[in-house]
Amino acid sequence: MTALFKDVPNEHQFAVRLMQHLIVPTFVLNANGNVIIWNNACERLTGVMAQDVLGTKNHWRAFYEEPRACLADILVEGRTESLDGLYTSFSEPGAVHTGLRAENWCVMPKASKRLYLAINSGPIYDDDGKLIAVVETLRDMTEQKQAENALKSLAHKDGLTDLANRRSFDMALEADLLYAVREQTPIALLLCDIDHFKPYNDIYGHQKGDECLRRVAQAIGTGAKRPTDLAARYGGEEFAVILPGIDAAGAARVAERIRCAVFDLDEPHKGSTTSERVTLSIGVTWVVPTDDLQAKHLIEHADKALYEAKHCGRNQVICGEGIGEADTA
Ligand code: GH3
Ligand code: MG
Ligand code: MG
Repeated sequence: MTALFKDVPNEHQFAVRLMQHLIVPTFVLNANGNVIIWNNACERLTGVMAQDVLGTKNHWRAFYEEPRACLADILVEGRTESLDGLYTSFSEPGAVHTGLRAENWCVMPKASKRLYLAINSGPIYDDDGKLIAVVETLRDMTEQKQAENALKSLAHKDGLTDLANRRSFDMALEADLLYAVREQTPIALLLCDIDHFKPYNDIYGHQKGDECLRRVAQAIGTGAKRPTDLAARYGGEEFAVILPGIDAAGAARVAERIRCAVFDLDEPHKGSTTSERVTLSIGVTWVVPTDDLQAKHLIEHADKALYEAKHCGRNQVICGEGIGEADTA
């Protein structure tokens, strides 16, 4: 049988053999940070064989592509201050003597799979309180994490269009506005409304209406290109796009690009008095916000511009004047 431990005193070898067959993936470092135990379950989880790591400090290679500390190394070296940059979540760094807990996505180069691991690491001291070893156990939490992420994403998305839902739009607008006030950077908001959508439903039916909504939403989503932009379903056949840090001319360009993207879908619409296709009206507001500017002021202002776009014949972009004192009073 392959030796799964190295340099372990004879009197401890029975315990080591038990650990070897423990179903929990486990490895142990000595006080110098060298691997002295790498059990069967750890081999199965990582694809790294005990013979390749025993007596070395190469255990990180089982979990990561770049050299970095594992949780057990942090205990060996007593530098818990570095936990912050290394793990997705972790326990109180003060708990050095009782052990540490952390969670992380690991790339597992040898096993060629990305796993979300729950990691526990505990120190072992001799009778004089001197550190003699650190045990690290691993638990594969990938399925739970994926399910959790899927649920989170469901909670933020609109079920029909897959864009952000109203709740996440409200939260994002508050957060982006706070940032814009603090950093004195501009922010733009686009409110978009499908023209004559009631007659669309009346003529083609609600189901075709839903399919059309999905295609329009996708066109709007692809128009908001930067990672900080957010396209959301505001409600019914209305959509909102937040464009942080953009200048006024840029916001108008994005709005026009979105209007064209919807026009270019070339969705027939026999009930529209504006065009033979489905079209979109867009109201734009842009501002470098003052302290007293609230999200509702931005929405009101974009809504006014949208109303004007409808009033002036639809299928067009109207940019409101800058938000003045009167609006925030
Ligand atoms: P306007 O050009 O002035 O915007 O006219 P409109 O007909 O688009 O406006 P109105 O507000 O009168 O009608 C909006 C329509 O959008 C009515 C409603 O049935 C439809 N709608 C809202 N949500 C959905 C949805 O989830 N699916 C479908 N199929 N239709 C929806
Ligand atoms: Mg509407
Ligand atoms: Mg409409």
